[in-house]
Amino acid sequence: MKIKDSGKKYDIIVCGCGSAGFCAAVQAARAGMKTAVLERHGMPGGIMTVYGNNDVAQFYAHHKQVIAGIGWEFILRLNEKGFAPIPDMSVDAPHPYYGIHVNIPAAAHMMDVMLAEAGVDILYNRSAVEVEVSEANGMKHVDDVIISTKDGLARLSAKMFIDASGDGDLSAWAGARYECGDTLQPGTIRYYFKIEGLDEDTAREIDAAMTRAAGENRLLKSDYMGAGINRLIGCDGNNINHISNFNGADSDSKTAADIEGRAAVNRIMESMGRHGNLISNIAPETALRETRRIICDHYITCEEYVSAHYYPDSICNSFYPIDLHREGMQGIYQIFLKDGQVPMIPLSALTVADIDNLYVAGRCASGDRLANSAYRVKASCMAMGQAAAAAAAVAVKQNNGISRGCDLDAIKSLLREHGAIVP
Ligand SMILES: Cc1cc2nc3c(=O)[nH]c(=O)nc-3n(C[C@H](O)[C@H](O)[C@H](O)COP(=O)(O)OP(=O)(O)OC[C@H]3O[C@@H](n4cnc5c(N)ncnc54)[C@H](O)[C@@H]3O)c2cc1C
Repeated sequence: MKIKDSGKKYDIIVCGCGSAGFCAAVQAARAGMKTAVLERHGMPGGIMTVYGNNDVAQFYAHHKQVIAGIGWEFILRLNEKGFAPIPDMSVDAPHPYYGIHVNIPAAAHMMDVMLAEAGVDILYNRSAVEVEVSEANGMKHVDDVIISTKDGLARLSAKMFIDASGDGDLSAWAGARYECGDTLQPGTIRYYFKIEGLDEDTAREIDAAMTRAAGENRLLKSDYMGAGINRLIGCDGNNINHISNFNGADSDSKTAADIEGRAAVNRIMESMGRHGNLISNIAPETALRETRRIICDHYITCEEYVSAHYYPDSICNSFYPIDLHREGMQGIYQIFLKDGQVPMIPLSALTVADIDNLYVAGRCASGDRLANSAYRVKASCMAMGQAAAAAAAVAVKQNNGISRGCDLDAIKSLLREHGAIVP
């Protein structure tokens, strides 16, 4: 097989430019590392932008800020331009209230800007497809990543790698152990309406048509969660269907999920009769909530998460209820955090087991399904991305590019220098 050697050697390569990868890449470059970020799409942001779920939760817990740093700077810069209204965090409200809705084109552009300002080599439109791994002293070491480009396959080298692919691709290819069970949370496909609301008569007409279609099995209840048309329009097609029983870490199954997602949205459109054209656009893919959870030195359990367990290497906070979506119309299994409790993420839950220069950050971090259903939210992913990059930078500068055995205080002070809140 022909693989071109790019000749480029990086300190840190981040795979994936979603919430976690964006913050990781900016932190790594700001720490003086020669950094590249790989992203298979032409747009950064992952679930936040490309997949259309633009709710960023949660920087505040119990009215107090618990996550800041690069993710929060991103929000503040968008907010200044009017593209990320921040709710009053002193108000008592159900948890969805505290999510910050970012404007999608503005958010993607802000990521472009902040990555460029930091001096990151932005490698969009490049998928990681394989890694080359060596072994020494019983530990694996990732030497290179193979990427697909318009010129064919190419090899990129780095001292440290951060897997922020959401699906844990790099880690799985490097031989990391992972969990990705037969039962996974359903996905959701976003679609967009042309209008902001309907008069009562038209809404009644469409609701009746949808109820008829559901009764005749032309529409599934899980396509629209039984919601009325004005509610669908109100949330602009965001987070309102369940596409169940697919595995996003399997290309065949993911393809089936994408096809089924579009079929679900078309079932709604067709059931709306002459009003079907009110839906004008759709995200390019079904977004899946859960795929691989990579096994790291520590595995966060639900008990640890909900009891806000303190770890000796706690490196960032996380905050969200346990939030496990179940198939079809079965709803969400939730456990709410008690007043004052703020869960933490230890660095060892980001340090991939048996590999000495690979971190994970974001949704694929190490933990059980229930803990993962909470720490997968975007602000937590952003905090994990920044933390993993600070650790990788310290490993390059002080520890010969080895992830374990780094000076934890040096990692924490680097994070604080860049605005992060460290537990
Ligand atoms: C439907 C849905 C609703 C949600 N609702 C909320 C919510 O309301 N609030 C909230 O805060 N969170 C919500 N979440 C959770 C949250 O959005 C995600 O868990 C989070 O965005 C994951 O961030 P990430 O950076 O780990 O991964 P992603 O955002 O998935 O980013 C991973 C990036 O890696 C890229 N990539 C993957 N593989 C490769 C490869 N091999 N090579 C190169 N690039 C690659 C992808 O293209 C992507 O851009 C929701 C998730 C879903 C699916």
